[in-house]
Amino acid sequence: RLHNIVQELKGNIRVFCRVRPVLKNEENSLEHIVLSENSITLEKTAESRTGRDKKEATRFSFTFDKVFSPLAKQSVVFEEISHLVQSALDGYNVTIFAYGQTGGGKTYTMEGPTKGPTARKLESRGMIPRAVSQVFLTAEELQVKGWKVEMLLHKASENRSVAATAVNDRSSRSHSIFQLHIEGSNECTGQACFAILTLVDLAGSERLNKSQSCGERLKEAQAINLSLSCLAQVITALGHKDQHVPFRNSKLTYLLQNCLSGNSKTLMFVNLSPSYDNFNETLNSLRFAAKVN
Ligand code: ADP
Ligand code: MG
Repeated sequence: RLHNIVQELKGNIRVFCRVRPVLKNEENSLEHIVLSENSITLEKTAESRTGRDKKEATRFSFTFDKVFSPLAKQSVVFEEISHLVQSALDGYNVTIFAYGQTGGGKTYTMEGPTKGPTARKLESRGMIPRAVSQVFLTAEELQVKGWKVEMLLHKASENRSVAATAVNDRSSRSHSIFQLHIEGSNECTGQACFAILTLVDLAGSERLNKSQSCGERLKEAQAINLSLSCLAQVITALGHKDQHVPFRNSKLTYLLQNCLSGNSKTLMFVNLSPSYDNFNETLNSLRFAAKVN
């Protein structure tokens, strides 16, 4: 019950955390991460100055609406967001972000694996194709119930081809926005429905090394950092139901203004690498996500 009350107070913003599995040839992984259903703890070990063999651990703990372990299948993750897709069909604007460093699993979560033996498997499909097919199925059901939803099917199939081409490799230095515009009207009641379902695979959140930071790369990195921090400010302001939400501070939030404000629901995935080598980036990502949560 307490959980429900907290959810009430929090309004329509959720944060889910997902740790991807260890990849081949990846060492130093997972041992520093402790997961529960709603929390994640990172442990940084350092040689103790007093005892030679004793290790001191610094712990960083975070709680989220949901934490997915590396074992979580795409279908299980989708189960937790399918009610949001349903909300879009009920007229809410729904926006789902994937945030995290390059290699954290954002594209895998949103689209599914883009290469390798699992790339064509239905069961490994990500949130975008699953959301599209849920919309299609519901549209067919609604049509049977007397809704005029041809429009919806038309829009959805346009977008489906976008989903297929988006699977091609593309830069992790840009935001990728997938949008489904859902329109319909009930023939009996004349009731109209219009909503936008948006899924965003954000640019990699990693900080560049000083040595890499020059010229175009530097400008690009600064633009990404700016847009991601503006996004955090916007989501935080929305969560607090602030009077002023700084949508105009970045192109990303400006573009998404309509989808994020008003009758809307927002979810952010924070996608994490299990590797100890990525400890600092993982901690940065968790701190970012905790800010918007
Ligand atoms: P990002 O888009 O954040 O840069 P990717 O989605 O490309 O990261 O993931 C990096 C690598 O990890 C890819 O090879 C991807 O297939 C793999 N991967 C990510 N998440 C999972 C997962 N949940 N299960 C299996 N492999 C994953
Ligand atoms: Mg990617």
